[in-house]
Amino acid sequence: MTYAIDGWFAVEPGGVRLLGTRCAGCGTVCFPPRRDSCPNPRCEVTDMEETLLPRRGRVWSYTNACYPPPAPYVAAQPYEPVTLAAVELDEVGIVVLGQVKGLTVEQLAVGMELELTSGELADGPLMWMWGRAS
Ligand SMILES: [Zn+2]
Repeated sequence: MTYAIDGWFAVEPGGVRLLGTRCAGCGTVCFPPRRDSCPNPRCEVTDMEETLLPRRGRVWSYTNACYPPPAPYVAAQPYEPVTLAAVELDEVGIVVLGQVKGLTVEQLAVGMELELTSGELADGPLMWMWGRAS
C-alpha cells in the first residue's frame, strides 16, 4: 500500500498513528513532523524527537468540499463532495486537518470525538482520515 505522504503517518496493528515530533527542550509538539528546529521562538533546541500522536481528538471545525481541489490533487470522476474536519488532538492540543470518512457535515458537531482511520484517495494512495470514535 502506498501512503499519500511518507513519514507523516503509519498504519499499525493498533490503528492509524500520526507521526509528530516533540522538542527535547521545551516539549513543544509538532505536526507535520519538524526535525531540524523547535518552532517555539523562546527555545533554541534543535533536538526534535519522533513521537506518536494521540489517535483521538475533538472536532474544532468542519466543512464540506463541494468542488474538487486543484491539481496535483486527483479528484474522483465524477467528483463526490468530501467532508473535512479540523480535530484538536487529545493531550497535545494541536489541530490536525483531515478528510472525514463515513460522516457528513450534518452528522458532525464542534466538540464531537473522532478517531483516526485511513482511506484511499481517488487515485489510490492511502491517507489518514477522521472517523467516528469507536
Ligand atoms: Zn523547544
